[in-house]
Amino acid sequence: MTKPAPLARIPEILSQPDAALQAVTARYAVAITPETRALIAADPDGAVAKQYLPDVRELVETPDELQDPIGDDAHSPVPGIVHRYPDRVLLKPIHVCAVYCRFCFRREMVGPGSEMLKPDDLVRAIDYIRGAPKVWEVILTGGDPLVLSPRRLKDIIDQLSAIDHVKIIRLHTRVPIANPNRVTDELIAALDSSKAVYAVLHCNHASEVTDKVQAVSQKFIRAGIPLLSQSTLLAGINDTTDALEALFRRLTEMKIKPYYLHHPDKAPGTGHFRLSLKRGQQIVQNLLMRLSGIARPNYMLDIPGGHGKIAALPGAVTETEAGTYDVRDPHGHIHTYRDSQS
Ligand SMILES: *Cc1c(COP(=O)(O)O)cnc(C)c1O
Ligand code: SF4
Repeated sequence: MTKPAPLARIPEILSQPDAALQAVTARYAVAITPETRALIAADPDGAVAKQYLPDVRELVETPDELQDPIGDDAHSPVPGIVHRYPDRVLLKPIHVCAVYCRFCFRREMVGPGSEMLKPDDLVRAIDYIRGAPKVWEVILTGGDPLVLSPRRLKDIIDQLSAIDHVKIIRLHTRVPIANPNRVTDELIAALDSSKAVYAVLHCNHASEVTDKVQAVSQKFIRAGIPLLSQSTLLAGINDTTDALEALFRRLTEMKIKPYYLHHPDKAPGTGHFRLSLKRGQQIVQNLLMRLSGIARPNYMLDIPGGHGKIAALPGAVTETEAGTYDVRDPHGHIHTYRDSQS
């Protein structure tokens, strides 16, 4: 783990009133790695800086914001597990990340302090998976699972791999961007499994994807671990068709398949990152016209209050009467589609 950078040395935030900023950093974790700092320094538009530098606007909360915006708590049968969908669970072995994103939907849960899941709780979490035969996929998240030491990670991967009904192990991580030096051969070796291992890279802007990030990403791919990406749509950072097009092209060129583009969650103090669903749909609609199918992510909304994730496409298909539909093409023109008569 890289220690949080001394805030006083980051000029971008010095312009903000100090006491207020301290209230922000007392409430929400801050960590900025040397690589992230270099990105911030090299990025003229602030698309990287705004993701990590604390901002006094984080103290502003709106009535619709929720501590647990996607309702994970209600689906947590044992500590460290979220089981909302029958065939897959989240396993959160660690609450720490290499960097702390200011818009994080788990910002009330992540941060230094209660760092690791307690050893007993990890045993119970893995027992839970072992005892749930419908669980086909385990998604390691947190925190960031690649902050774990290769030894701990290997132990978890080995235990999951030994469970017959678990066929897929997926990791969600920001480490290749935030701290690429952590992606050592030893770490990659720790991910070796008889099961299918996938990694999902959290990445929001093309300017985060340096040559170094590209180089470490290829280590996963060479080890037979397919890479996907997830991004969050963020006001003032990537909420233009051009910015997202550049990001998704860059990722696809690196053999990273854009998987999800999340509409921002209503986490406390993140109102300055949010935009309307309608605006998001417009951007996504524009992307559909520009991008190859392999470069298009799904635009996802996690319905506040724990009602689950849905594809947030503008009503592309609407049934108007039995067997007849209005079908919207990428230009927004409506066509009629009818089911075949049998
Ligand atoms: C998002 C999520 C998943 C994984 O969903 P996919 O759509 O398969 O990526 C699993 N469990 C929970 C609780 C989630 O929020
Ligand atoms: S890396 Fe993920 S979990 Fe960690 S702060 Fe960023 S969004 Fe939150």
